[in-house]
Amino acid sequence: MSKTITVGPGYLGLALDDEGNIDDLLYGCREAFNNEGISKEWKVTSVAGRRFSPTLLLEKSKGVDYYELQFEKNKNFMNTKTWVANDDCIVKKVFKDVDLTRLANEKTPLGWTLNKATICAQKLKQHVGVYAGDDASYTLFAPMFDKVIKQYHSVNVKTNKAQPETYEKKTLPKLPEGAIVSTRIRTARNLADFPFTNNMTKNQRIQIESICKKVFDGFQDKRLKGTYYPMEGMTSEQRQELIDAHYLYINDDPTLELCGTYTDWPEGRGIFINNDRSDGVFIVWVGEEDQMRIMAMNNGSDVQAVWDLFYAGLEAVHKGVKKQKQDFAFKESHGYLSTCPTNLGTGMRASVHVNLPAFKTKNDLKKYVKDQDMKIDIRGTRGEATNTDGYTVYDVSNKERLGSDCYTQIKTMVDGVTALLRVK
Ligand code: ADP
Ligand code: MG
Repeated sequence: MSKTITVGPGYLGLALDDEGNIDDLLYGCREAFNNEGISKEWKVTSVAGRRFSPTLLLEKSKGVDYYELQFEKNKNFMNTKTWVANDDCIVKKVFKDVDLTRLANEKTPLGWTLNKATICAQKLKQHVGVYAGDDASYTLFAPMFDKVIKQYHSVNVKTNKAQPETYEKKTLPKLPEGAIVSTRIRTARNLADFPFTNNMTKNQRIQIESICKKVFDGFQDKRLKGTYYPMEGMTSEQRQELIDAHYLYINDDPTLELCGTYTDWPEGRGIFINNDRSDGVFIVWVGEEDQMRIMAMNNGSDVQAVWDLFYAGLEAVHKGVKKQKQDFAFKESHGYLSTCPTNLGTGMRASVHVNLPAFKTKNDLKKYVKDQDMKIDIRGTRGEATNTDGYTVYDVSNKERLGSDCYTQIKTMVDGVTALLRVK
C-alpha cells in the first residue's frame, strides 16, 4: 500500500532513520499526517520525486515550499504468518500470545528493534528465534523477552534474583569415567554499556578487542598466561588446526550471520589460548556470538579440574576488565546478560562429548531426553549448527542457565550423562 501527500507551509519537519522509517514528526507535520492516517507504521520512499535522504529534517517552510512525500506501509514483520520459523518456535508463540504492536517501531538507545531481534525467526527455521542487541533490549522489549525467557528457562525474571559469581571454591559431583571423550565449561560475557556483537560498529569491535588484549596481557597465573591470535591475518592452516582441536569458532552459523554477528568479519575477532596446557586448555573467544566466550576444556571426564581452571580464568578476566573501569553486563533479574536469551543467567554451558551407542542418531537422543523431561541439551560434537548423524558421540550439556547456580547446572549435566549411559 502506498500514499502520496503534499505538505506545505507550516507543515514541514520530520526525521527519518536510514531506512526511511519515521523517527519523529515536528511542527504541523504531526497533525497533517494524523489527518492522512500516516503513523510510524509507514515509511517515506520519496520526497518531491527524489528518494528520501536519511535523517531528513525539513525546515519550516518560508511560504512557497510544498513537498510531495510518498509513503508505503512498512512490511509488517509483526505478522508471524509470514515467518519461516515453525509454530513451535518460542518467539513465534510469544508473538501470537502477546500483543506487541506498541513495540513494533520502538528502538533502544543503541538502535535495536523488534524487527532486528526476530529476523532469524522471520527468515529461518528456529527453536528460540530471537536475539537481544544490547542490555536495553531486555528492558524495552520485556513484554516479549520475559515470556521467551519464561518458556526456555521456566523462570520469571520479575521475581528472579541472580547472584553474581563469587569465585569461591566449589566441589562438584564426579562424572562417570570411560565413555567421556572430553569435558568443557564455557560462559558468555559482555561488557556493560556496549552493544552486543550483532549490533556493533567496526570501531566498537576493535575497542572490545583492545580491552580484551589488555586483560590477557595482565594474567599473572601461569596456568592462564598465553597468546592472543587475531582472526585477521591468521593463515588458513593455523585456522584449520585450531578448529580441528575444537578450540576455534568459525563464521558458519546461518543464524548468527543473519542477525549481524559476522558483520565486518574478521575485524575485532580472535582467540586467546593459554601456553601451559598441563592443567587443561583455557580459551577466550573474542567477538563471536557474545563479546567474550570464556572456557576451559580437557580430554577425559575430570569436571572438577576443568571447573577450577575455568573459574580461575573467569575471575582473572573479570579483574582485568574492572581494572580498565569496565564491568560485565549483569542484572539481578537476568543474571549476566547475553545476546541469546538462552544464555542469560550464569551464561554457563558445561558439556561433555560422550559416546552413547544406544542412540543411533541425534534425533533419537533428543527425543529420549524430551520424553524423560531431562533438563539437558543435545548437540553434535562439532558445534551446535552441525549434523553428526552416523556417529554416536554427542555433546551433552546443561540446558538451564537462569534461576540456578553453576553448581546445580553442572550437577544436572552430570546426572543426565550418568542416566544416559545406563540406557542400553
Ligand atoms: P558453545 O556455543 O557452547 O560455545 P558450540 O556448540 O557452538 O558451543 O561449540 C563450539 C565448539 O566447542 C565446537 O568446536 C565444539 O566441538 C566444542 N566443544 C563443545 N563442547 C565440547 C567438549 N565437551 N569437548 C570438546 N569440545 C567441545
Ligand atoms: Mg555456539
